[in-house]
Amino acid sequence: AVEAPPRLAARGVTVRFGGLVALSEVDVEVPAQSIVGLVGPNGAGKSTLFGVLSGLLKPTAGTVLMDDEDVTAATPQARARRGLARTFQHPELFSTLTVREHIVLGYRMRHSKSRLWTDLLTGGGFRRPPAAETERVDALVDALHLGSVQHAPAAGLPLGTSRLVEVARALAVDPRVLLLDEPSSGLDVRETEELATTLRELVADHGVSLLLVEHDVPLVLGMCDRVHVLDFGVLIAAGTPAEIRDDPAVRAAYLGT
Ligand code: ADP
Ligand code: MG
Repeated sequence: AVEAPPRLAARGVTVRFGGLVALSEVDVEVPAQSIVGLVGPNGAGKSTLFGVLSGLLKPTAGTVLMDDEDVTAATPQARARRGLARTFQHPELFSTLTVREHIVLGYRMRHSKSRLWTDLLTGGGFRRPPAAETERVDALVDALHLGSVQHAPAAGLPLGTSRLVEVARALAVDPRVLLLDEPSSGLDVRETEELATTLRELVADHGVSLLLVEHDVPLVLGMCDRVHVLDFGVLIAAGTPAEIRDDPAVRAAYLGT
């Protein structure tokens, strides 16, 4: 049988910042309809890898593939049109735009031809949205329990709420692959559980693939089909959660036992 190509893959990705090697020949694959975890200590290079995968950062060497097509030179918006969305470790919201407008922007990343930045600068694009857009944005506002703050500006939102806005904005892209950078940080236990349920449903019901960076290791081991471990820019282990839990190099580098 011919296997489907991975939705997203990094092959031999190296990133240098001056003399610092943030990533060294890293290979990561996100197969269709799977949840892949990426863990590692602070500074291991996890967010840097997200930058390379999402197109914000050009790697010093290596390639990024979506469905076996080389997208290393493609812009973030071109990758979004192919179904890639991400969230940021530190929510990057526009302080004067409302919660709802952020979700609209996510939707238009994929569904509108242009005008994204013109809309944003003039405010004109937010006046008469198509019905399909309104429906989709309403559904996401509901799913992430953002109804009571949907018309509030992003400035001044608690961190947990900002995180949910980021996730809603990413989901509005209708991604085939979703990259989540520490989605549970700033969330309380109940919010984390709800988010985990929403994410599992996305994979099961909508065939989305996830790449999940988390410092909450039990969450990753409990949710993921495969886990990759980075340490100082080097991939030191990859395997099932059970394999990772028992890996001596991982325990030494990361779990501190
Ligand atoms: P993680 O997300 O795993 O905590 P990062 O990818 O944020 O790690 O950082 C990896 C390393 O690269 C760190 O040593 C960090 O200081 C460095 N780094 C990240 N971004 C930059 C940058 N834009 N310029 C210089 N160094 C950077
Ligand atoms: Mg990080």
